[in-house]
Amino acid sequence: MAEDRRQEMERILQLQRDTFTANRPEPMAKRKDRIKRAIALLKDNGKDLAKTMNADFGNRSNYQSMLTDIAGTVSAGRDALKRMDGWSQGEKRKVQFPLGLLGAKAEVRYEPKGVIGILSPWNFPVNLAFGPLMQVFAAGNRAMIKPSEFTEKTSLLMKELVDEYFTPDELAVITGGPEVAATFSTLPFDHLVFTGSTATGRRVMEAAAANLVPVTLELGGKSPVVMGRDSDFAKAGERIAMGKMMNAGQICLAPDYMYVPADREEDAIAGVSQGVANMYPTLLENDDYASIVSDRHFERLQGLVADAREKGAEVIEVNPGGEDFSNANVRKMPLNILRGVNDDMKVMQEEIFGPVLPVKTYGQIDEAIDYVNSHDRPLGLYYFGQDKREQEQVLSRTISGGVTTNDVVFHVSMEDLPFGGVGPSGMGAYHAVEGFREFSHTRAVYHQPKIDIAKLGGFKPPYGKATAKAIKTMMK
Ligand code: NAD
Repeated sequence: MAEDRRQEMERILQLQRDTFTANRPEPMAKRKDRIKRAIALLKDNGKDLAKTMNADFGNRSNYQSMLTDIAGTVSAGRDALKRMDGWSQGEKRKVQFPLGLLGAKAEVRYEPKGVIGILSPWNFPVNLAFGPLMQVFAAGNRAMIKPSEFTEKTSLLMKELVDEYFTPDELAVITGGPEVAATFSTLPFDHLVFTGSTATGRRVMEAAAANLVPVTLELGGKSPVVMGRDSDFAKAGERIAMGKMMNAGQICLAPDYMYVPADREEDAIAGVSQGVANMYPTLLENDDYASIVSDRHFERLQGLVADAREKGAEVIEVNPGGEDFSNANVRKMPLNILRGVNDDMKVMQEEIFGPVLPVKTYGQIDEAIDYVNSHDRPLGLYYFGQDKREQEQVLSRTISGGVTTNDVVFHVSMEDLPFGGVGPSGMGAYHAVEGFREFSHTRAVYHQPKIDIAKLGGFKPPYGKATAKAIKTMMK
């Protein structure tokens, strides 16, 4: 059975690569046509996809799904359509003096790589499969997508729709569990994009290394919020609450923990709590608030809170409607703010990925900077405050994939900014010109003139005076 699945994937990969090779060079119009069909697929079937995501999650607002997974991905496609002519322009490069005078020329061309594998997670199941795809297509590639098994119904629907809008030599969806995913990551793609956890990312990179397949790893991590002393705590709280509560905190860029001035801790917590209450007067019966995706993830989150409580943290449950969650069978979880946390608690050791928000306090901002620097480099980092000098201090002394100031998560929605992590939070980036380049091969091309440059330059035996002169000039 496993062997059958491998053969099926290998067959599709071979078909895509053969068709890719046979059809080169493809006109830009062909690439654009694929992006337009991907956009049409999303627009024609957005509502069905949203309904299916709702079914997979248990509850997930159709509005939210339309916003994050459908409209957000359509706009990424539109952005690619608008800019790809510019992105794909090659560049003339300099040749060393005096080669230019003799007619030598150098250029760089951005060429497609071939067949790109896309391994995507469950938290934004459509966006994280079709988002990279738009740029994969813009760069002239073909693609195979393996979506997550946790959102199985959505994955099956994506396969059905892709079969309807595309031929298998352009795009194919492979469904299945972790074994299929593991096999997928061993295929000799021309490039592999993985979005998921750091632990799985490590395995994917290992598997890709066997074939020297280049990888883009979009991973997770603990994205901190650093709040300056002069923050507007009410406004900041509202914004942090939005980033933490959307999709019930199941966002790679969700603020993971807050670092606040010790004497403003109460204000910071009150700000976030009020922000939650303003957006979600109730949670259980509220369609706007998502469920945790599976029992396993729900139990993991409950376990993080229990472990922190046992080790001395104070747990503040933000339950604006005073609802009883104990017997609710819907995997909904209110925000749990944790005070008095330390690194012995699991909640400070792993990415939370749910509605739990530890709060740490500092006397001097340096303590927050040092803490961030002594832990894995995060995917996102957020600074709140009006003190530009302090903001610059936080930004220039830390390292993270990206940054939003005076809000959270937003940098990912700027189409013209690259999106990616650094070190344990990922490598490579997509979105903007950086994404196009990520999925392109930057090919160096040098055009030699008629004149025998090697002889003239003394590069060719028999070596002698000309060679000595060349060496002297090069070392000047
Ligand atoms: P995951 O790592 O469990 O799974 C992601 C994908 O990997 C799935 O398609 C799964 O089928 C596949 N997979 C599972 N085992 C595999 C293996 N051995 N080899 C190859 N592939 C395998 O992640 P998840 O739980 O679906 O998603 C949550 C994680 O994703 C969080 O850590 C989150 O931060 C991260 N994430 C990152 C981004 C980003 O853009 N940086 C976006 C969303 C989520």
